[in-house]
Amino acid sequence: MKLKDIISIIEDYAPLALQESYDNAGLVVGSSNMEVDKALISFDVTEEVIDEAIKIGANLIISHHPIIFSGIKKLNGSNYVERIVIKAIKNDIALYAAHTNLDNVINGTNKILAEKLNLKNIKTLSPQKNLLNKLVTYIPVDYKEKVQRAIFEAGAGHIGKYDSCSFEAKGVGTFRAQEGSTPFVGNIGKMHNEAEIRLETIFPSHIKSKVITALLSAHPYQEVAYDIYKIENNISNIGAGIIGELSEPQEELVFLNNVKEITKAEGIKYTNLLNKKVRKVAICGGSGAFLISKAKRAGADVYITGDIKYHEFFDADNSILVADIGHYESEHFTNTLLLSIIKEKIPTFAIQISDISTNPVNYL
Ligand SMILES: [Zn+2]
Repeated sequence: MKLKDIISIIEDYAPLALQESYDNAGLVVGSSNMEVDKALISFDVTEEVIDEAIKIGANLIISHHPIIFSGIKKLNGSNYVERIVIKAIKNDIALYAAHTNLDNVINGTNKILAEKLNLKNIKTLSPQKNLLNKLVTYIPVDYKEKVQRAIFEAGAGHIGKYDSCSFEAKGVGTFRAQEGSTPFVGNIGKMHNEAEIRLETIFPSHIKSKVITALLSAHPYQEVAYDIYKIENNISNIGAGIIGELSEPQEELVFLNNVKEITKAEGIKYTNLLNKKVRKVAICGGSGAFLISKAKRAGADVYITGDIKYHEFFDADNSILVADIGHYESEHFTNTLLLSIIKEKIPTFAIQISDISTNPVNYL
């Protein structure tokens, strides 16, 4: 199986364009044209995981965290990152990471924990801004259906839990074909009026070229008139963290113990109990202290994340219960998620989750 085909399965689910600017998600080591015999999924890439891949004959490791984050100036094995990269290259093992792009889709990193907690009405906690564009185009009446279908199939027209969203208005388009043009309708040098539909819809930036290609190939005109505007609306299902509701409110400690059991966290650091039942739950796997204030504003009773620094715990300010369950514990379900994403598309492909816990943190 070509590596690039596996990559497009992952990136259809979690487009690379959605990764944070500081991130380095995507193909980290290897060529996308290489043939992949077998793949191994692991939360992090460590030397042990590379050894495991060699042992089982896997020449691709798919991880959540990219092994290379900041630039590498030397490859002489002087630290664990260099040793791992050298080992992967020497053994022709490709390394691919689905990181903040997977965090930022609503069915991404936080999905499995939310499902295990039976959360309902799940929404993105911090929707990304400025990712949306508006497309306006003008289509001869008889071709409206065809063009509309093509741009919807390319991914335009989604608003929340609705697809095929657009607006149309009737009008008249005018043009005069010049020498050298091949007009679909009308004659060279003659003013032409055509009954047209003005069609408006929206699409996220990362599918712009797909939408425009679909428009131009479905539209009958030689020169298609269309406008693209950046719009300020949030995209409701793209962004960091999620928030949802328990169907039955729970006592705070009952809830935390449940989280401990589900995530196999050995310890949970939490702020003062507020002696009120937990109903609204916010989650951000990994380092999520940056969303404490968002979780408070969204009315969450509890916020689950990892890597909270001492002083950041004060931000709870007795108005929300903040629980640090550990970085690994809050995100390691990405292994299961990545397996299901790939198995759904290529059920017979040889892929498995690593037996190794790469959590560098131990508890006494
Ligand atoms: Zn992480």
